[in-house]
Amino acid sequence: MLNVGKIEEGFVLDHIKAGKSLSIYEHLQLDKLDCTVAIIKNARSGKMGKKDILKVECDIDMLDLDVLAFIDHNITVNVIKNGEIVEKKELVLPKQIKNVIKCRNPRCITSIEQGLPHVFVLSDEKKEIYRCKPYTTNALSAAAGGAYLQYLFRIILCFLFTIFLLLHIHYF
Ligand SMILES: [Zn+2]
Repeated sequence: MLNVGKIEEGFVLDHIKAGKSLSIYEHLQLDKLDCTVAIIKNARSGKMGKKDILKVECDIDMLDLDVLAFIDHNITVNVIKNGEIVEKKELVLPKQIKNVIKCRNPRCITSIEQGLPHVFVLSDEKKEIYRCKPYTTNALSAAAGGAYLQYLFRIILCFLFTIFLLLHIHYF
């Protein structure tokens, strides 16, 4: 296998699905960090046939592992210190993610208003489904609003019925 120089401190992201390394590079915003990055595409893998590997030489606190877990939690994260693997991090699906994906609903507040955070909440862990947060909270307040209207409607009905009864008493 092609060998790209050892790193002193940082991460080796292994078992990335072949062809996915560039999108991970973008999502982790590695272009904005001042660090050395090696992208290895289509490395041979016993388990996967082909895989991508990313080697990132940086401070180990610099990387947003939540974003990585959201993209693919099967990626192996090797933490490197002093040129040695000191830890293998288990990636778990984050409970919520911010500004990684955008809501596709054109009527969503985050689509209409500029500058709002795009927050998605893990709603089904088994199926790995995330839902847009403002949308769910809006739906909740709409439901609460509906209940309030029904309540008001009943009071008005009661009021009308009472007037109706009073009028009858008056005439007969
Ligand atoms: Zn939305």
